[in-house]
Amino acid sequence: MLNRRKFILTSLGASVAASLFRGVAKASAPQTSAGKPVVVSTWAPNVKANRAAWEVLSSGGRALDAVVKGVQIPEADPEDNSVGYGGLPDRDGRVTLDSCVMDEFGQCGSVMALEHIMHPVLVAKLVMEKTPHVQLVGEGALRFALENGFQKQNLLTPESEKAWKEWLKRSQYDPMRSVHELEEKIKKLQLNNIPWPSAYLNHDTIGMIALDRKGNLGGACTTSGMAFKMHGRVGDSPIIGAGLYVDNEAGAATATGIGEEVVKICGAHTITEAMRRGLSPEAACKEAIRRIVKNNGEKAKNIQVGFIALNKKGQVGAFAVRKGFTYCVTLNHQTKVYEAKSWFV
Ligand code: ASP
Repeated sequence: MLNRRKFILTSLGASVAASLFRGVAKASAPQTSAGKPVVVSTWAPNVKANRAAWEVLSSGGRALDAVVKGVQIPEADPEDNSVGYGGLPDRDGRVTLDSCVMDEFGQCGSVMALEHIMHPVLVAKLVMEKTPHVQLVGEGALRFALENGFQKQNLLTPESEKAWKEWLKRSQYDPMRSVHELEEKIKKLQLNNIPWPSAYLNHDTIGMIALDRKGNLGGACTTSGMAFKMHGRVGDSPIIGAGLYVDNEAGAATATGIGEEVVKICGAHTITEAMRRGLSPEAACKEAIRRIVKNNGEKAKNIQVGFIALNKKGQVGAFAVRKGFTYCVTLNHQTKVYEAKSWFV
């Protein structure tokens, strides 16, 4: 999160920042006929990922191909410390990646706790296409990747290594660390009268869902998971039905935030089924958030989970537990960033 903020503050420059600021809408995206093709991703900094996906969609390409192309942008970005290369490591200092894909035929593939491979999403896609399985984990996933021509790379950047060494001094696992750091940062910016949209600074896992010109859905989700997790911990992101689900009759949904909470309610599948029953994408996301809030009672306020969803009509919706969850929508060659409505305001 620190790296991401530094990147935004130092690399974008004031005028670009101002134009991005103008693009951040305060309310959710319109529920009415968004249309197609359309692509939606978690977190405002993923506008670049949306643009990459849009290139595929606008030339008539398939939703799955679009999202696989899109999510590779943050996977390869060393400044993004929650996805792929540059992702914060586990408590042993190892960068372990989780990723999955799902297409319009209900086919899916995923890799969990995969090390040394910059684009886990491509390995997940190959698991779907080339194996009789859905999930490969750890050593087996790595062996499969290497057998298929992927190169081993060191994914731990000096910045992430430094953050890990700093963390080791206290060694306290705090899944809300990034949210709290963000809130601190916003306070400082406000004190200095720097007009940054608070929502723009936030970023975690990328989940991306799309509807292509033919009316087919596809999705991908990819992450380095919670920073300083136990070695071997797997979150929601590579779990089909939790971090991602695509049903070509009903819709698609994906998640970000504390993965354990998403797994407990089968988040993305819950949302897709709610859309099948006729709920709008936003109402379906809200229903999933309601279950997380109910599960956690008093503690719910200190949890962040955000969902995005897309139905067959191209309508988009989102909902989060707390304020500050942003998402990007690209439609008609235009990318807009929205802040999701939240349970706690
Ligand atoms: N959902 C991810 C996980 O639990 C993390 C995130 O979105 O920040 O691994």
